[in-house]
Amino acid sequence: MSLYRKTASEIAEMIKNKEVTSEEVTREFLQRIDSLEDKIGVFSSILHEKSLESAKKYDNDNNEDKRKDYDNKLLFGVPVALKDNILSKGDLTTASSQILKNYEGVYDATVVERLKKAGVPIIGKANMDEFAMGSSNENSSIKPASNPWALDRVPGGSSGGSAAAVAAQMVPIALGTDTGGSIRQPASLTGTVGIKPTYGRVSRYGLMAFGSSLDQIGALAKSTEDLARIMQIISGHDEKDPTTAEVEVPDYLKSLNNDLKGLKIGLPKEYFTEDLDKDIKEVVDKAVAQLKELGAEVKEVSLPYTKYAISTYYIISSAEAASNLSRYDGVRYGVRKSDENIEEMYVKSRSEGFGPEVKRRIMIGNYVLSSGFYDAYYKKASQVRRLIKEDFEKALNEVDIILTPVSPTTAFKKGEKVTDPVQMYLGDIFTVSINMAGVPAISVPAGFVNGLPVGIQLIGNYFREDLLFNVSHKFEEARGKIEYPEL
Ligand code: GLN
Repeated sequence: MSLYRKTASEIAEMIKNKEVTSEEVTREFLQRIDSLEDKIGVFSSILHEKSLESAKKYDNDNNEDKRKDYDNKLLFGVPVALKDNILSKGDLTTASSQILKNYEGVYDATVVERLKKAGVPIIGKANMDEFAMGSSNENSSIKPASNPWALDRVPGGSSGGSAAAVAAQMVPIALGTDTGGSIRQPASLTGTVGIKPTYGRVSRYGLMAFGSSLDQIGALAKSTEDLARIMQIISGHDEKDPTTAEVEVPDYLKSLNNDLKGLKIGLPKEYFTEDLDKDIKEVVDKAVAQLKELGAEVKEVSLPYTKYAISTYYIISSAEAASNLSRYDGVRYGVRKSDENIEEMYVKSRSEGFGPEVKRRIMIGNYVLSSGFYDAYYKKASQVRRLIKEDFEKALNEVDIILTPVSPTTAFKKGEKVTDPVQMYLGDIFTVSINMAGVPAISVPAGFVNGLPVGIQLIGNYFREDLLFNVSHKFEEARGKIEYPEL
């Protein structure tokens, strides 16, 4: 039946029309997961029984009478994977870290609660870079995930498991999180489409915090319509997360097909320098030409503070991480490693529980926050962040969306950058500013270089996810269907 090749939206329609049951769909994906997991390594944990149980319950409720108890039918019965830093009650949620290796969620994150209310079975937890720190999935303490397009290459990160699971068609759709590019970069490297929503669009209640002023939950899928559907379910104000905005969630499906005639697209000159890889540039240029054919107008814009983006991001995100991760001490959270005395217990639990990258971030964070250096680093970075935000506000006054590359390279070989953290950080150049500004952005596959996928990034104004979905959907139609690798 090859349901796995279909998009989440197509499967949802089939379940709604009773051409297939949620149980059949979930079983097929579980089989595919079982046959491919050893090869790709995308799951931290798989919920075999629990997902089937939910699917059966939703099938039972799949009639006019009972379905009205569900919030909407956009993805009713369609299984989804959650990144392993999103809590679900009674399920392992480890952030791919040894310090949380036995930790089970004690409550449902708001996004999970909303998915359940929409009749979506949870099929498992996706592998990730430990505590979402990384760009290759090699920082996972469980196993490195592979890129389905070339198994010796990384899928990107930190939502690498979510991205690879979708590209390997082991799940139709997955939730990820994005603090500095962790949805968009793996989407670009795996030929999937991924959205980082506006800061405050989606509740972070039940998300393990990394950089609280930057983190957002979003999703990855094979089509923009799939993203529109899942974002309709999970977006909106939540009284449990005071940073969520009381801004109405528009009907995302309604605007998907709007005409792009007259759409103003800005190309920031700082993103298109001599240094930009020629092959990547070619893919981006072609995408711009396709959008022009659809009626869009293109002009140059400027984001002058781009050159400070990486350093600013790594100061702010590490400072927030150092503070957020202090709770993993063997007392409040985390595996306790020693009972000798309190000092030794803290030291052992944290030094054995955290991997090298997490420790590096905690050290950077505590350093930039320490009294002698606070003004020079954290305070200065906060001021620069404001300037970066103003760059985007100014540019988005002139144009409707900004178009850029997502990643300076295609998927790189495993091991290639792992010993050189700075090299790894520099790969985030096109994505981190967006989180600091808080605006939404989507990565949509645009082409290939040497058989490896390349995405483009569309950046919109605050709460204009609807426009991003519209442009991305129209672009997909012009681009044509992607054939995912046979594995
Ligand atoms: N690669 C970036 C980092 O390591 C982004 C991570 C993320 O978005 N979670 O911090």
